[in-house]
Amino acid sequence: MDGGVVAISGGIGGAKLALGLYRVLPKETLTVIVNCGDDFDHLGLRICPDIDTTLYTLGGLANTELGWGRRDETWSFMETLGALGGETWFRLGDRDLALHAERTRRLAAGESLSALIADIAGRFRIRAAIVPMSDEPVRTRVQTSEGELAFQDYFVRRRCAPQVSAIRFEGAARARPSAPAAAALAAHPAALILCPSNPYLSVDPILSVPGLRDLIRGCGAPVIAVSPLVGGDAVKGPTGKIMRELGVPLTAAAIARHYQGLLDGFVVDERDPDPGDLGCPVHVTNTLMKSLEDREELAREVLQFATRIGTGR
Ligand code: GDP
Repeated sequence: MDGGVVAISGGIGGAKLALGLYRVLPKETLTVIVNCGDDFDHLGLRICPDIDTTLYTLGGLANTELGWGRRDETWSFMETLGALGGETWFRLGDRDLALHAERTRRLAAGESLSALIADIAGRFRIRAAIVPMSDEPVRTRVQTSEGELAFQDYFVRRRCAPQVSAIRFEGAARARPSAPAAAALAAHPAALILCPSNPYLSVDPILSVPGLRDLIRGCGAPVIAVSPLVGGDAVKGPTGKIMRELGVPLTAAAIARHYQGLLDGFVVDERDPDPGDLGCPVHVTNTLMKSLEDREELAREVLQFATRIGTGR
């Protein structure tokens, strides 16, 4: 594929495909624009869960046993904090903590999130651009049966138990696309991939940044979304639960409709029913990424699908 590839991603589900893309594409050609709606301040530290998941995944540092956080992790800080009576509902490993402390220090010194993440990605020897959706704060707030909750209160503290009625992105109106995100989209990428992330909690915050949707639409590349549903439900996490609670059918077709006006192609898992006419080409395949080979194979297929759509224009 000639030209760069831009992936739009949340955390764990999106980073699986981002890793596949990273491994099959020539180095320095992938840009991953990552959700920052989950970011929050905790224990005096700025935590960016989706960016860090992407850094650890592409840097070969991810904790594959836990499915989140860093590998070779130790937990002395958490244990000691617990013994002191501190808040332990959000688990921070010792190695992970160093990234939060360093990020907090550099942000307080005036560095932008984009610049410091680019530097850290370089230190992890990652030869792809990992870029925040915005350098301005956008915070996901979830309206639930228990009132409005900050994202991590809903997601981690309450383990997604409250019923969701609406989601909003505080600060979005004042946010701008980060400079590296805008630059990657303006550089005529060859493909734009919406990774199989949670559309409501991971992709929508990105699309809520004024100007980003137009940059995606205007970037000239085929825009391909990969459904996060496998066999009629989410692989992990609250995507299915939220769709039911919002009264949306739990189908790949509903995911495609959610991205209406953006898509040039849609990738559906082979275990799901035919989504019918979506107004764009559909590619049916195995999208369940258990192994590294699965991630690479899906990445190759998505890129070939994008090339076919691009050349057919
Ligand atoms: P989070 O921010 O950590 O919740 O991660 P994402 O929003 O990026 O990913 C969550 C979504 O990833 C869920 O809807 C899952 O169904 C989806 N997901 C996870 N693993 C896979 C997979 O192997 N294949 C597909 N198609 N979707 C997956």
